Parts: sequence; C-alpha cells; structure tokens
Amino acid sequence: MSTHETRSTCPYCGVGCGVLVESDGQRITGVRGDPEHPANFGRLCTKGSTLHLTASPRVATQARLLVPMRREHRGAAPAPLGWDDALDLAADTMHRVVGDHGPDAVGFYVSGQLLTEDYYVFNKLAKGLLGTNNVDTNSRLCMSSAVAGYKRTLGADAPPACYEDIDHADCLFIAGANPAWAHPVLYRRIEDARARRPGLRIVCCDPRRTETAAAADLHLQLQPGTDVMLFHGMLHLMIRECWTRPGFIAGHTVGFEALARTVADCTPERVSRTCGIPVEDLHAAARLFATSQATLSLWCQGLNQSSSGTAKNAALIGLHLATGQIGRPGAGPFSLTGQPNAMGGREVGGLANLLPAHRDLANPAHRAEVAALWGVPSVPERPGRTAVEMFQAAADGEIRMLWIACTNPAQSMPDQATVRRALERAEFVVLQEAFAGTATGRYADLLLPASAWGEKDGTVTNSERRISRVRAAVPPPGQARHDWAIVVGLARRLGGRLGRPGLFPFEDPESIWNEHRETTRGRDLDITGLDWAMIDRAGPQQWPLPEGATAGTARLYQDLVFATGDGRARFDDTAWRPPAEAPDAARPFALNTGRLRDQWHGMSRTGAVARLFDHAGEPAVQLHPQDMERLGIGDGTLVRVASARGALVLPARPAPELGASQAFIPMHWGDEFLGGRDADGTPLAGVNALSSPAFCPDSKQPELKHSAVSIERC
Ligand code: SF4
Repeated sequence: MSTHETRSTCPYCGVGCGVLVESDGQRITGVRGDPEHPANFGRLCTKGSTLHLTASPRVATQARLLVPMRREHRGAAPAPLGWDDALDLAADTMHRVVGDHGPDAVGFYVSGQLLTEDYYVFNKLAKGLLGTNNVDTNSRLCMSSAVAGYKRTLGADAPPACYEDIDHADCLFIAGANPAWAHPVLYRRIEDARARRPGLRIVCCDPRRTETAAAADLHLQLQPGTDVMLFHGMLHLMIRECWTRPGFIAGHTVGFEALARTVADCTPERVSRTCGIPVEDLHAAARLFATSQATLSLWCQGLNQSSSGTAKNAALIGLHLATGQIGRPGAGPFSLTGQPNAMGGREVGGLANLLPAHRDLANPAHRAEVAALWGVPSVPERPGRTAVEMFQAAADGEIRMLWIACTNPAQSMPDQATVRRALERAEFVVLQEAFAGTATGRYADLLLPASAWGEKDGTVTNSERRISRVRAAVPPPGQARHDWAIVVGLARRLGGRLGRPGLFPFEDPESIWNEHRETTRGRDLDITGLDWAMIDRAGPQQWPLPEGATAGTARLYQDLVFATGDGRARFDDTAWRPPAEAPDAARPFALNTGRLRDQWHGMSRTGAVARLFDHAGEPAVQLHPQDMERLGIGDGTLVRVASARGALVLPARPAPELGASQAFIPMHWGDEFLGGRDADGTPLAGVNALSSPAFCPDSKQPELKHSAVSIERC
C-alpha cells in the first residue's frame, strides 16, 4: 500500500512544531519534523518524534472510546447506544436541567488540547445559546496568570515576542520554566543561539537545579513562591544603580512611582533572606537584565501556577518596562504556553471571564458586540465559574450537569477529594473523549467518542501567536466523531428545543474558523487578512494579520504604543505575598509538581510508548539527599506523603537538584497507573490528591506548584 505525508502540527506543547505525518490512508506509519515550519525547522523532541507510536490502531483499540456509551446508573457498566440516541439524551437532559434550575446549573469544562474551532463552538453554545458563562478549561491551570498579567500591564493578552527573538537577545532571563524538558525544541534554539554568540548570557530562576538551570550562566535557586520578592529586589537595585530608563518610563508608562514605593523596602539583604539567594547573585541578575542590549524573559508554570500568579507575571513584565527591554528585536516578555492550543482557546474567549477575540465579559459594550456577531439577544453578564470554582459548585450541588471534553479532571485538577465529590454529586456527567479508561470516565453517565490527533482538521496557535493547521491523515476509529461536530450536533438539538435554530450552520471546521475570524475584526488579534488557503500557500502565520496585510506580525509594540486606552503600559505595585499554604512543623515540606521530560499530561498518549518510559518508569517523590538522611530513608524507601487533603505512598528518590525541605512529584500518574487504594479506601488519585485548590484572586489559576506536606517512612 502506498504511503503519503500530511502536513500537521504536534499536539503536545505550546512550541507548536510542524510535523509531516506519514500514513497509508488508514494507519499512521511514521512522523518527522516539518523542515518548513518556522517553529521547529524540522526538529522534534522525544515526544513529537514518537507520535506515530501513539496513533490508533497501534495503541490497542480498547484504549480508545469507539462508540457512544451510556450508564444506566453510577457504577454500572456502560452500554453502547447510537449517536442520535446519545445526543438526544444529552440535549433532553440539558434542556431539563436548564428549565428546572437555570442555565448556570450547567458547566462545560474543556481543554487546551482542543482545536480553535472546537473551542469556538463550545463557547458559543454556552454563552450564546444556553445563556451561561460556565465554560472553563484546563488552560485555567496553565496560562490564565499570564493572560491576567499581560492585560494588567500591556493592556491585552498578547505575548509581544517571538521565537526569533532568541536569536537577537543578549540576555535570556528564564523564570519558573525548564524548557530543556518542557519545551525541548525551543531549548535547542537557545543552545544554537548560545553556540553562535558566546556572549549571550542566561539567567535562570528556579527552586530546582533543573537541566536548564544547570546550563545557565547564573542560577538563582530561590525559595518556592518568592518570585515577586526577587523581581521587586531586582527593581530596587535597578533604581539604586540608575539602571532604569527614566525617559522610557515617562514616555510610555503609568504607575512607576507607586511600584517604586512598593520596592523601596525590598533591600538586597531582605531579598537575600526571603529568597535564599546571595546578594551578589541578585545584583548580577539585575545588572544583566537591565544593562544587556536586549533582554528576553521566558517563563511558564513556575510563575503561573501560583496564588500570586498575576502579581508574578506583572512584576516580571514591570522589569521590562522599567528598563525599556520591550518592543525591539531580542527584547520583551514572552510566556511559554504549556498546552498546544491554550492560545487559540483564549482567542475565541474560551474561559469563564472572556468573550471572543479578547473581549471582556465584564464590558457591556463587548457583550453587546458579541451578541450582535452571534445573532442572539444578549450574552449573560454574570461571570462564569472558573475551573476550581466549577467543581466546587458541583460538589455543593449548584452545578448539576457537567460536560467535560478532552481532559481528565479526576486526575489533573487540584484537591481531588473535592473534584471527585463533584463528579459523584452531579446529576449528569458527559465525557467527550478520545481515550477510554481515564479516571473521569468512571464518573460519566454518557461517554462520547471523539477523534484524536492525526484524525481531525482545524487550527492551533502556539506561544508566539502563530496559527498553524492541524490536518487529518487517517479517519477516526470506530464511530468517533470530531469534537466540533459533537458540539454542533448537541447545539442543533438544543437550538430546536430553545426556539433558537440556525445558530450553528457549520458543516466543517473551516466554516467555524471563518466565523471566528470575523469576530477579530478591529481587535488586537485581527486576522481578517488570513484564510486557510493562505496558510496552505504561505505557511503558518502570526497574528495580527488584518485585512490588506500580506504577512503576519512577528513582534508587538515596536511603536511603543500599548494596548491600553491611552497607549501607555501599566506598572503593577502588588507587594510580595507568601504562598497560600506555608509549611509548618506538622507539614514541613514544600511540595512542587511538574512534568518529566518524556511524558505528557496524564499519559493517555505518551503512556503507550515504551521508549518514553525508559526515562522514568514509575512515580516517586523526589527529596534532597540530606532530607532523606535526616528521615532515615534510602533510595526506593516507601514514604507516606500527606497534605491537608490526602495522602500518597510512593518510593523516595534522591534529587540533589532540589533545595532543602522541598519535595517534587511528577504530575503524570493518576489512579489508572497507580492502581490500588489508600488506607481510607479512596482510589489513589496521583499527586493532585495532595495539591492545593488555593488560587490567584485575579487569574483564578490554582497553586499547583506549592502545598505543604509531611513525609514519613511507611
Ligand atoms: Fe511537540 Fe513540543 Fe516536542 Fe515540539 S517541543 S515536538 S511541539 S512536544
């Protein structure tokens, strides 16, 4: 049988690498990096290069959901039913719940793995047809602090920089990120830049001595949760040493005086004590950041997954504004997106507080614009429930029907005890998912099989605002349907019942994208000059690309006019606050969570590849060797790790890269991999049995990177 290649995009991380998918029309047989894609120029990391090993039917068919299934009651084995019956049941149930309890009794919890078109129809269904803003996403767990930080300072959720800036920077300031593991192809670009220009300096701020930190010129191994104090201490020194740019501050910003007052008592000595770093290192970092010709900062979950996430983002962006390190090649703040399409989801307004094309739900004019674009009387004003709030509301009985798509909250959400109580208490749970056997599936009354990467068409946007096509190489297995088509099938049924037919005329993902494009007209992310034919012809493009433009925009704010009402950027003067749950005598360890190099999320896909397991085949809690000695435990000793919310039993592993009194557990293992139950009979839910639901008051992003735990030998 002959094979051919289909041009698509890797579904794992926000680098957004182009891939060429080899298939025989029925089976994906290989994958290689797309040499023409500007995100990766042909490179792939271990995960991307093994994508073909994760595609059906190489993954055993029992690992995929193949037909719609219904449970007569919780705990019963699911039984197959036809698509029409499944969607009728879903629509009837949703109609009844809305009729009895109002639209806010329904919650949609979706995913940064969905394509932009999937996201768009979910958002329109909830906010335009049903009348609830209860649509949130696992991107809340990933990037919402960056969204809030950008909007607070620069006026729009628009990362200003691009990958090419790595080639122009003289200083890379990497904070709360380990791109060597989490964004590997981008890290290769950093290594290349360094090899070409030995003068490039890299500063890395991270409580762990990660591979990225170990390779940096300067590693600030700060105490967990002290980032805002670090950034304020750097600004304190910049002011004292006259390293700020007063002309830039006066001409293009507002609010510097208030921030200067906030940082006045962030003396080097205080910062050194709080952050646990030497004064000389603080001084060196501030000098490099401020005085380098061009400084590019890169950050990820270490700043975002925090109860101070917005303040951390805003404080770092403030350093760029104070020193004029923005709007030039190689200079600017640049958040690294975790998931492949967290950006696309934000663009269509797929969060509980957003509306399409970066409009704000709280803005009456924006609500009216969206209502007019959608042809509905209004968009509801009441803010929707964000991720943690949504599951809390379901646990409290306020949300009665949950629709979950392409994500596994029974593993990935913090405070699993509450999440599982929510899933148990909800009257009706629908899970729209490609994979069978996820922990969330056990709670679903209705399981709807979805197509997966390699089988579906649409678009994604990567960290540098670049819109790429995702293309189908093979048909979906069994009766699996595309996510957008499942939503449209539900929406048409509901539209009939609610007296609003015709809102979802879409026959393919391109027609959805075209409607999304129209919502961007005149907005900061205007893409009215782009169509799918242009992407086919000229390759992936960066927004904005308004009508009349011939190419996308590599770098924002080069004119130093920011996306605020008066064009001036804002400083944020929020003072440092410690993490929500301080370690104490009873729980003296600060627990951090995160990725391993060769795994992705809950391992639905990467868990199927034996060679990826070679890196780390089992979960463990990592501890500093001195802590292990103090606890009297060795490599592999089973320990009980307990927080205020739950406990796990895991082998201990020595990790000299950690600081004292810190612990690290990878996020990938849930109960389908751990198996078994804890002493209370509760299924082992992975590290999120322990993690804290505390969230940033501004971004509502939970503090997955910090909770207090005790550790005892079993
Ligand atoms: Fe995929 Fe990210 Fe690896 Fe690129 S760096 S191949 S997008 S996982």
